[in-house]
Amino acid sequence: MSQRVKVRQILLDENTNYDVVVKGWIRSFRNNQFIALNDGSTNNNLQIVLEPGSVTPEVLKRLTTGAAISVRGTVIPSLGKGQRVEVKAVELEILGDCDPEKYPLQLKNRPSLEYLREIAHLRFRTNTFGAIFRIRHTLAFAVHKFFNERGFVYLHTPIITASDAEGAGEMFRVSTLDPKNPPLTENGEIDYKEDFFGKATNLTVSGQLEGELGAMAFGDVYTFGPTFRAENSNTARHLAEFWMIEPEMAFYDLEDNMNLAEAFIKSVIGYALENNREDLEFLAQRLEEEDKQKPQQERSELGLIQKLEFVLNNEFMRLTYTEAIDILKNSKPNKSKKFDYIIEEWGADLQSEHERYLVEKHFKKPVILTDYPKAIKAFYMKQNDDGKTVRAMDILFPGIGEIVGGSQREENYDKLVTRMEEMHLPVNEMSWYLDTRRYGACPHAGFGLGFERLVLFVTGMGNIRDVIPFPRTPKSAEF
Ligand code: ATP
Ligand code: MN
Repeated sequence: MSQRVKVRQILLDENTNYDVVVKGWIRSFRNNQFIALNDGSTNNNLQIVLEPGSVTPEVLKRLTTGAAISVRGTVIPSLGKGQRVEVKAVELEILGDCDPEKYPLQLKNRPSLEYLREIAHLRFRTNTFGAIFRIRHTLAFAVHKFFNERGFVYLHTPIITASDAEGAGEMFRVSTLDPKNPPLTENGEIDYKEDFFGKATNLTVSGQLEGELGAMAFGDVYTFGPTFRAENSNTARHLAEFWMIEPEMAFYDLEDNMNLAEAFIKSVIGYALENNREDLEFLAQRLEEEDKQKPQQERSELGLIQKLEFVLNNEFMRLTYTEAIDILKNSKPNKSKKFDYIIEEWGADLQSEHERYLVEKHFKKPVILTDYPKAIKAFYMKQNDDGKTVRAMDILFPGIGEIVGGSQREENYDKLVTRMEEMHLPVNEMSWYLDTRRYGACPHAGFGLGFERLVLFVTGMGNIRDVIPFPRTPKSAEF
């Protein structure tokens, strides 16, 4: 019997008195007898019991926090508190030592999240990050499950592109030209004709435009991949590299789009509640302790699990941008000038403070805002008959702000091209995109959901850097 069994399986198994091989890392060792072993399959450790005298003093000394070991033994009922079963060791082998003088993750005092960010290559070994990244995995799996069950095709859109989906220009250039001595045009500008792709290219900010091409053939598609934004937003909700889920559906209007987005978010949250209960409970507990350090009025009304259940069991509030502006204009923080950006008139872009006011103070539930002014939205959104607004929808979440941005797309060729010209977009270079409106155009819609913002919400963490394994932010690309 040399097949390794995972700790999670042993802890779930009703049986006892059977032999196993377990492998993992020591979380703690006490009384020269009890090892708390963790193998990453669950936050719960497996207690390994050594018979006194069964290992040499040399080996005992090497049983330190962080060391990797292999144990053969018998699963028996535990007499101690805190665990149902334990493993009585028959054979123990140290696979990798871990110098207790140097190991940065000693259990003595709980390291801060900021410190753990500096040692992100080791932070997976803590309970907090173990829980976060198992939940992240489950959510990613649930994304594919949701769309697969509805017959969507997972379309891999390119990471290197020559187009800027938003026209926002916050892109990372991809180039193999020699930065010290780039070829120049007659006007003295860098000559990208000489570059690898024969033109200027960048990392994608969104897979939507290519997604639309797929939707015009498969009906329903989605992408789920990395996207890149060279925006200098040093906030707790922005990354320079993040993962985005972008479904795109033919024959959907804005309402179908909202219905799908709401069902999707509820479905993946529900899946995490079913499959990551222990990890969520661990994080809930952690948040509760953190909350106790805060003044009364800053504490959250709901625990993490209740908050997730609340989202599952309540319909998102739907209203138009125009209705939201009226609420915001007349709101207390606007009148008493508590907002950093005072809402004075229709047309203002909503800042995250406004979004959060609507969600956290006014409606106290997730909100879907629709029909935004066209001036603050992308060129491809379907224009309403009023000439002022577009069929956009943003979903706003408590503690997060915008989690989804989407719209029904403008399928009318002439209207779309006119809007592109108004916005000074390179119509000629986007002929491939316009073909969707030339050949068999149909009403269609889609949205983008920032995966890390979803993970932030589900884990209850406060900083987006703590829900992606290796965060990329301005001035930081470690590991
Ligand atoms: P924000 O106003 O918060 O910057 P946005 O309007 O730029 O968002 P979109 O371009 O609509 O966002 O992108 C779709 C989704 O991608 C957003 O709803 C959000 O969930 C996510 N997202 C956008 N930018 C980032 C970022 N820098 N880091 C992480 N997620 C992001
Ligand atoms: Mn942005």
